[in-house]
Amino acid sequence: MARYKDEQCRICRREGQKLFLKGSRCYSDKCSVSRRNYAPGEHGQKRAKLSEYGTQLREKQKTKSFYGVGEKQFRKYFEMASNKKGITGEVLLQMLESRLDNVVYRLGFGSSRAQARQLVNHGHFDVNGKKVDIASYLVKPGDVISVREIKKDSAIIKANLEANSARPVPEWLEKDADNLSGKVVRLASREDVDLSVEEHLIVELYSK
Ligand code: SF4
Repeated sequence: MARYKDEQCRICRREGQKLFLKGSRCYSDKCSVSRRNYAPGEHGQKRAKLSEYGTQLREKQKTKSFYGVGEKQFRKYFEMASNKKGITGEVLLQMLESRLDNVVYRLGFGSSRAQARQLVNHGHFDVNGKKVDIASYLVKPGDVISVREIKKDSAIIKANLEANSARPVPEWLEKDADNLSGKVVRLASREDVDLSVEEHLIVELYSK
């Protein structure tokens, strides 16, 4: 059981960076990456040199884990990004940032993306006054995300807002903690994405 509980931290340790999969623990000195920044397992302290394919694969896996997206959906985002104007890798990251579960997390209503996804799935949020319970819903500039009236007394959301009050909200979002809402000011740019990733390697992987 303890092993299972550490599974998310093992993902971060394998990727050699914090992917913020566990909520408040990720922001504390209990974070496993801060304490043991080497890969899990017997040979974890000797990081093997990766092949070109291996490096590309790791960049993709890391990004999928960070946003909590499965392979099929991730591939779909890539296809969509390829068909849009702009640099494919950057558009891909922008789409992942625009997911409603990510926005709920970024606004501090969820302690992790996984928890934010659960809150969205359980119907805690409106987008522009209408209930949206699809975590993959892509927000647009001008959208207002708010806690639904009947969920405003939710203890979990109140606790999250308090616990996450010091966590910075990215500039592309505007948070209104008093009204339990947030606005999408603009789409996220590459600079807004705080994941250390070489997204062009993901593009190269999928373009093979
Ligand atoms: Fe674990 Fe969070 Fe640290 Fe990742 S960032 S190792 S999930 S505590």
